[in-house]
Amino acid sequence: MFTAKPNASNAWKGIVENAWNLREGVRTEVGNGKRTLFWYHNWATAQPLSSNELQLGDENEDQMVWSGSSHGNFSLKSAIAIIRKEAENERDSFWDFVWQRNLPQRINFFLWLAAHERLMTNANRFARGLALSAACTICDSTEETTLHLLRDCSLARSVWRSLVPHPEQAMFFARPLRN
Ligand SMILES: [Zn+2]
Repeated sequence: MFTAKPNASNAWKGIVENAWNLREGVRTEVGNGKRTLFWYHNWATAQPLSSNELQLGDENEDQMVWSGSSHGNFSLKSAIAIIRKEAENERDSFWDFVWQRNLPQRINFFLWLAAHERLMTNANRFARGLALSAACTICDSTEETTLHLLRDCSLARSVWRSLVPHPEQAMFFARPLRN
């Protein structure tokens, strides 16, 4: 489910790679049970388990499947539907602003992941045990957080300096993520 075709754009690969972050949309199909966390994965019901009996089969590996659609395959449309529902609950002016722009769905999805600190930065990968270091591989000097990746890294800064009018740069580089 969570593999992009080799010829997919980098943006799309990033989206697919990050899809599992939408926990509301992911359930687990249990095979031998080795990769499924009994209490925390939605393997039995739409909610994590509290008390149910589990029957394990020996042959098949556990698989993550997308419960946002009936066929179990990830689709951007179903992900956006989940995001919009979450955003409505948040009643957040930032999201009102984003939805009103009628941006492409991929951009909405990317913004949502970024605003919720769910981009697979090295800091997030390290926190999940998926990387050996949280450091940025470009500048190698600090943690690769969302804000570092998108704005504060030396490479990102050079791009932003050419885009943001000079008088506004000091304020731009001082703002927190959501602003
Ligand atoms: Zn960096």
